[in-house]
Amino acid sequence: MQKIDTIAAMREAAAGLRANGRRIALIPTLGALHAGHASLIRLARERGEEVVLSAFVNPLQFGASEDFGKYPRSPAADAALAEREGVAVLFTPTNEEMFPKHFSTAVAEDRVSKPLCGISRPALFRGVLTCWLKLLHIVQPQVLVMGEKDPQQVAVVRKMLADLSLPVEIVAGPTVRDADGLALSARNAYLMPTQREEALAVHQALSRAREMVATGIRSADRIVAEATHIIGQRRRLRIIYIAVVNRDTMEAMREVVPGQCLMAVAFWVDEVRLTDNISL
Ligand code: AMP
Repeated sequence: MQKIDTIAAMREAAAGLRANGRRIALIPTLGALHAGHASLIRLARERGEEVVLSAFVNPLQFGASEDFGKYPRSPAADAALAEREGVAVLFTPTNEEMFPKHFSTAVAEDRVSKPLCGISRPALFRGVLTCWLKLLHIVQPQVLVMGEKDPQQVAVVRKMLADLSLPVEIVAGPTVRDADGLALSARNAYLMPTQREEALAVHQALSRAREMVATGIRSADRIVAEATHIIGQRRRLRIIYIAVVNRDTMEAMREVVPGQCLMAVAFWVDEVRLTDNISL
């Protein structure tokens, strides 16, 4: 595995892979790698792609009051995981390398990025898109591998690729969960055992939503009400949003159309903000 931290060296390494006729899959991450990230690496490798994984805590996607400073960072463990999973290039640029002092350009998507996390984290998708478009230009992958853990991110990036005619295929991998159902996230490291225990109610609520759809219920209101009730029984949980949305547009749906919808939820466990979702 090559470990690279400059844009120039990253370009050169990617050009080398392409010259050997290899297809490149880019997996952008914030680092603090876990089994969810590992599953995306495996997905790309099973498809025969060379993996370029970026581990970069992108400052642009954090709001002023958010956890940029304390976001978990584990560079040595990240390198070990990446190496073990067969990553070809681990790209770990510094902030100065990616966004030097007078950086003044931004990429915004104005539709799919607006609801859900776009309301509670207004800086998020502009920051993600600006960073990711830059990564795409540096690495020039054929494939972008992302997790269904962040369905709005998938939809927003998909829209940017389409709107800007970028010839990059998106592959989305399923959410990896702990045995108890909690979706893996770097932010789970913030949770105390009692908080973690309460957070499990969210996966229970999402599972209940899926069961309701399986029994023929189609009213989004009814499903949201039931899920809200389950989460509301936990004293430490506060819902930021919970909605049944179209998976491509992120628009709220009145009726569930199986296969086209997901239930997305963002919530506080005390002061820790987590998200989860389930396809319906
Ligand atoms: P992050 O480092 O949180 O920005 O995530 C980097 C990529 O990994 C994103 O495409 C996420 O959707 C994906 N990801 C994060 N957590 C999981 C998970 N539990 N299962 C699958 N993919 C994940």
